[in-house]
Amino acid sequence: MANIKIFALGGLGENGKNMYVVEVDNHIFILDAGIKYPDIDMYGVDAVIADISYLVKNKERIEGVFISHGHEDHINALPYLLKQIPTRIYGTHFTICLIENLLLNNKMDFKNYKLFRINENKILKFGNVNVSFFNTTHSIPESVAISINTSDGSIVYCTDFIFGPTNYGKYQTSFDKITDLGKGHVLAVLAESIGAGTINRIKNDSLLEHSYKNILVNSQGRIIVSTYSSDLSRIQKIINMSVAKGRKIAIIGRNAKKIIDIAIDSNYLSIPKERLINLEPFEDAKFQRLDNDLVIIVTGVRNEPYNHLVKMALGEDHYVKFVPTDKVIVMSPPLPGTEKNAIDSLNTLYRYDVDIEIFDKTILRSSHADKEDLKLLYAMLKPTFIVPIKGEYRHMYEQYLVAKDAGYQDDDILLLDNGEIVEFENGIITNRSLIATGDIFVDGSLLGNVNEEVIKKRETLSEEGVLILTINYDIRLRKVVSIPNVVTKGLSYNLPSDELNLKISQIARKIVENGLVKKSFDLEKIKTAIEEETLKLMLKLTKHRPVIICTLVDVSK
Ligand SMILES: [Zn+2]
Repeated sequence: MANIKIFALGGLGENGKNMYVVEVDNHIFILDAGIKYPDIDMYGVDAVIADISYLVKNKERIEGVFISHGHEDHINALPYLLKQIPTRIYGTHFTICLIENLLLNNKMDFKNYKLFRINENKILKFGNVNVSFFNTTHSIPESVAISINTSDGSIVYCTDFIFGPTNYGKYQTSFDKITDLGKGHVLAVLAESIGAGTINRIKNDSLLEHSYKNILVNSQGRIIVSTYSSDLSRIQKIINMSVAKGRKIAIIGRNAKKIIDIAIDSNYLSIPKERLINLEPFEDAKFQRLDNDLVIIVTGVRNEPYNHLVKMALGEDHYVKFVPTDKVIVMSPPLPGTEKNAIDSLNTLYRYDVDIEIFDKTILRSSHADKEDLKLLYAMLKPTFIVPIKGEYRHMYEQYLVAKDAGYQDDDILLLDNGEIVEFENGIITNRSLIATGDIFVDGSLLGNVNEEVIKKRETLSEEGVLILTINYDIRLRKVVSIPNVVTKGLSYNLPSDELNLKISQIARKIVENGLVKKSFDLEKIKTAIEEETLKLMLKLTKHRPVIICTLVDVSK
């Protein structure tokens, strides 16, 4: 008999920042630690991660972070987490290779951290709880599902998977392991929801193969293919088919190349060495490589594949400039949040003299479970409870409908929000409670965080511009020594400038001089007062509120 808690710190009701937690008595097991990409109006925010203060508070009880696969929405919050909680990380060989690279990119020596390579034949013991794994099929090699096995049954975390045919060993599902688990008691399954609403998804690569082979046969010049770097299985497919037709391969995409290099180095991606071309950067496009047998794979994350293609069309890329004999295949269907950029990019591409073909979701195989995949998973594992995870609320609701369709009752399908804890005693739900969760914004490297206030300021900057005020004073003479200087940037309206400048200068001079006569000269207070008064004046005269920055320079130093 165990006390079990299941909850999410991120990943429910959203796309990304996956982080789920299972507590069994005194043991805490963390499942994945990913990022979410920011919304378009989060100025300067590079990533959003989950608030982990609950974990920090309870860090003595944490057994480790168990990673399902190496995609950013599952691993990229690890540098941040490890800085606060230096716990153990468990993942397959390829996943750990990617995590090592991620830590290096964040200036963290991975040798200082406890990274453990697991495989599906390993069983990890933590008191009377053990953790096991089974291989799943996804778009990146060595993806696994994680099973936390307790005296009251197993909790199976199965995210990002499909049941589909694949010839590649590193992508194969271990059906035997799943059915074995199903023979025992599965208390709950945490399964992804993103694809739950899709029916009749493309189950295999035959349409892709057929369409791409046609192009290989008919194309007289270079073939340029855009794809996401996370889609290693698709990249492999393109390479295999191209090489089989005697073509050479070049790969574009600086960041993505690192992942691909790791994949090549560790034999997860194979390209015959003699077929791999390293494109040299050029100043003048007439020196670019135009070999007719060249296939250029343009990779990256999020918007990068599209942005590369646009640069190539505009002649701004240093490796490739489109020529009329090029065939461009867009094999990177937009992701949630990237639709606008994708459409804008395509509109640009169509203006150029280049032959474009789009492979969309009617041709490309999805790498996320659809309705049938989920039903098959339920049938094999026979869980008592189903917890829809990973996805917006509408996706989670779609999975609720799938579970209903599979015969589950409302009480057995647990639609949760981030921070909502379901507690089991003896396999029965006894309590529901809440813990604080939220978003942490990450700016640039993972070292500096930004908060709502900073975002707000950036939003104002982009909409209203900035007014910068510099005042020189002499602390020894206790006076302002030059007329305050006003500079504006990005203001979208006309300033009645001379009059306004004069007024602002007068206000600033008065505040500084009032401050200077006081015994204790409080620089911060004076700055804030000037900024507030100037803003009031701007609002009165222009009806706008730009960001006001005041700098006070002591010229006596
Ligand atoms: Zn994934």
